Amino acid sequence: MEGSKYDKILELASRKSLFYPSAEIYPNAPAGFWDFGPIGQAIRRKVVDFWSHEFVNKENMLEIHGSQILPQSVFEGSGHLKSFADPIVQCSKCKKFERADKLISEIIGKNVPESSPIDKLDDLIKEKKIKCQKCKGELGNVSKFNMMVESLVGKQGELKTFLRPEACQSIFLNFARMVKTMRLKLPQGIAQVGGAFRNEISPRQSITRSVEFSQMEAEIFFDPKKINELKNWREVKDYKLRILKLQSKNIEEIKAEDLVKQKLVPGRLIAYYLARTQQTWDKMGIPLEKLRFREVDKDERAFYSLATFDFEVLTSLGWLELIANNYRTDYDLKNHMEHSGTDLQYSTEESDKIIPHIWEISAGVDRTMFAILDTSMKEGKEGLYLSLNPKLAPFDCAIFPLVNKDDLPELAEKIKKDLQESWFEVFYDDSGSIGRRYARSDEIGIPFNITVDHDSIKSNTVTIRDRDSTKQIRVNIKELKTILSSLKENKELKDFGKYIN
Ligand code: ATP
Repeated sequence: MEGSKYDKILELASRKSLFYPSAEIYPNAPAGFWDFGPIGQAIRRKVVDFWSHEFVNKENMLEIHGSQILPQSVFEGSGHLKSFADPIVQCSKCKKFERADKLISEIIGKNVPESSPIDKLDDLIKEKKIKCQKCKGELGNVSKFNMMVESLVGKQGELKTFLRPEACQSIFLNFARMVKTMRLKLPQGIAQVGGAFRNEISPRQSITRSVEFSQMEAEIFFDPKKINELKNWREVKDYKLRILKLQSKNIEEIKAEDLVKQKLVPGRLIAYYLARTQQTWDKMGIPLEKLRFREVDKDERAFYSLATFDFEVLTSLGWLELIANNYRTDYDLKNHMEHSGTDLQYSTEESDKIIPHIWEISAGVDRTMFAILDTSMKEGKEGLYLSLNPKLAPFDCAIFPLVNKDDLPELAEKIKKDLQESWFEVFYDDSGSIGRRYARSDEIGIPFNITVDHDSIKSNTVTIRDRDSTKQIRVNIKELKTILSSLKENKELKDFGKYIN
């Protein structure tokens, strides 16, 4: 399946409306925008919930929701208007634009940093005789293209505004207010889930590179002098992280404590959040061997970042960046302070006025969703299925009346309502053979199927079938909620009753 897995994901996405091009009924709809249907949106929401639980809740972060359209002055302050530009190249024959760095990387099979000087990219195109991939025409010279998406607000569009290119800008703008009103004490994470917009010149590979996408961001504000003072250090110090060091071809497993000792990271706070990041995506169900932190070289990372580790996952598209982990220092607060004229300094317990430093964990919602689909898609006896973590599945369970008579649908409906009343998300299917219903449910990753049969009427019991093992147990209807809750917490089916086949 491996070779064509990507096509299979797209085929499933289209057939079951997981995701599909926005405004598809119009022939002129631009590429790079995606809608999510009921099942896709349910999985997407659960990805966000999972992250919220692991970061906002367990790390005691402050979560905000900022506006997506911001005034031009914000992006003068952040530096985006000047420097948020990608190298692009145009075919002289068919006039198609391409991202120069991505095109060269794909052709030569080696990562070419987007920050490479333009003349170096021109030289590579000449040296490797790279032509337009669509029509084989000659490529022109590489130039820089600003990716900001402009929007005009006001009666005559007189207010120049932009759609934010990274959700984190709202967090920086909120910092001083959080200090004042939320009794913020460093170190403190401020988090946000929301839209980001980039004029990607060649949107591709479906939801992994689009113009409009969503980010789950955590910005950790801290006093750089106290980067090694961390309450929870013990929890992670022996945890092993999968690191691809600069210039290295092999992933090494390095304890958080050793990352600090070997000066691979600037301090414990950073090793701590790298560990919590790997733990979270591992818990989501992506196999550890498909995860890595790639140390990013100076000429590839953002100019303000003192250290960058891209968190990547091995998918059918190759290694895909899911999260940018950046040491943004005091760059953002300092610049917004200068440009807005507002004091964004923080008074420490020692009464020093400092501009806090920031460690950023900027994760893509859409890429995480894609990686979850890609790594969970398996081939079973009945066909392809998604072996999703029950916490990320579109429904907690499915209910099937075995036949549409003998009071079975009524009992099945009653069980469904009762579960829904207790916040379980339930899928109901009463059409086709039971085998077809299992296959339909497995295909969209529903972890447990409950079948209501004639014995259910006689003995108040139902069967629960596990998607991955296809094993079944018979349980009392009264115990259903407790058992389903435990199964969601990764307890095993065999802990609750005897297998019946
Ligand atoms: P790339 O090098 O792949 O363009 P980037 O380094 O520019 O990504 P960041 O600016 O660091 O990405 O953004 C943080 C995260 O936001 C990325 O790791 C990714 O998950 C997500 N992201 C960025 N650009 C896009 C996009 N065009 N479509 C979907 N997700 C994106």
